[in-house]
Amino acid sequence: MIEKVVIANRGEIALRILRACRALGIRTVALHSEADRDAKYVRLSDESVCIGPASAVDSYLNIPAVISAAEVTDAIAIHPGYGFLAENADFAERVEQSGFVFIGPRPETLRLMGDKISAIQAMKKSGVPCVPGSNGPLGDDAAANRRLASEIGYPVLIKASGGGGGKGMRVVHTEATLLNAIALTRAEAAAAFGNNVVYMEKYLDRPRHIEFQILADEHGNAIHLGERDCSVQRRHQKVLEESPAPGISERIRSRMGERCAEACRKLGYRGAGTFEFLMQDDEFYFIEVNARVQVEHPVTELVTGIDIVQQQLHIASGEKLGLRQKDIQLHGHAIECRVNAEDPDTFVPSPGCIKQFHQPGGPGIRVDSHIYNNYTVPPYYDSLIAKLIAYGDTRELAIARMRVALSEMVVEGIKTNILMHERVLADAAFQNGGVNIHYLENMLGL
Ligand code: ADP
Repeated sequence: MIEKVVIANRGEIALRILRACRALGIRTVALHSEADRDAKYVRLSDESVCIGPASAVDSYLNIPAVISAAEVTDAIAIHPGYGFLAENADFAERVEQSGFVFIGPRPETLRLMGDKISAIQAMKKSGVPCVPGSNGPLGDDAAANRRLASEIGYPVLIKASGGGGGKGMRVVHTEATLLNAIALTRAEAAAAFGNNVVYMEKYLDRPRHIEFQILADEHGNAIHLGERDCSVQRRHQKVLEESPAPGISERIRSRMGERCAEACRKLGYRGAGTFEFLMQDDEFYFIEVNARVQVEHPVTELVTGIDIVQQQLHIASGEKLGLRQKDIQLHGHAIECRVNAEDPDTFVPSPGCIKQFHQPGGPGIRVDSHIYNNYTVPPYYDSLIAKLIAYGDTRELAIARMRVALSEMVVEGIKTNILMHERVLADAAFQNGGVNIHYLENMLGL
């Protein structure tokens, strides 16, 4: 087992990684910016290194600073968490070239998955179902692009191959606006991502977001841990997630999960990962692979009993997966609410000092959070302050426990979206299960 891990992240995920390391007897080095000096995980860590000023570009995204921190502390491996450098192929390569273990997929895999067109092409080859579309870059031939769009059928979506974070896409409803939309998306993609390659796919008007968690070792073994439903979103950002997805049969779960696991074997994928799909009318359409641990991983941990971050550490140590597909059984139901420091009506971030924090508890409740009384939420990073996770034998019980937990949770001094979560949990359509990705914005009247 690797003996010492650098945690190259912040907030709740830094604490989550720290806990997994400590449970396995691995020593930790917490990296932090000047703004995160007082973080709880920095104090709990065996060692810590300040890697720069508050601005993420100068600290959490500063590759030389992260690598030198690993060097001066004689660490063995670097865990990038999610966001920041987690899916940066150049970073992973520098980590490995500097003699450290990157806790994540191989740099080649990150490169392949980081480009949407190459990811789609790799998935098609491995038998993963994709959205009907151009399957490759769009050229400048206007007539060919018009023909393609009418073959796919309007509405179509123009997407930037280098896009991310829900940016770099445009829906086209009629042929009259097609060419203009292609030109605009191309120009925006060039400016935002330094890559003007765009492609076309069918626009699905009311899909659900369903994703499969996988684990793969470097010896060619891969398994899936079932799926999550992350359809409750605002502006393509997930707000609430659950596992299993309502209405997904065991037959579909094993068919889709096995396809993802098989794709991992073919790609030589290493580590934890998520295959994201849109699902409409019982058909699945691949959208992307998240080649890292995800924010919503706890719901899968609760229904499978598997510690995904510990699995990442075992895999990074070169071990064979200790689990087989037949060992994976889903029990009960889990729901996660992302509690953000933001105005519940305007969604404007609400950083500042938390005067009082009272954490809910009781059977089936898990709170993943780095905050405490008098902690100041810095204004520089994303606004996630806590993940509230509820588990029960049934979805109804998980919902009931979540509602009690939300009502117990106290965060004073800043605004949070707790009220919004209470509205979702009380809503009949959500309680019925299986809402699509437009549900939340419609429910909130946005
Ligand atoms: P990003 O990397 O920016 O997150 P994705 O390809 O994952 O890009 O798409 C982000 C979101 O955009 C999806 O979660 C979904 O809500 C929407 N989306 C993407 N592709 C389609 C599509 N073909 N039809 C409808 N919605 C889509």
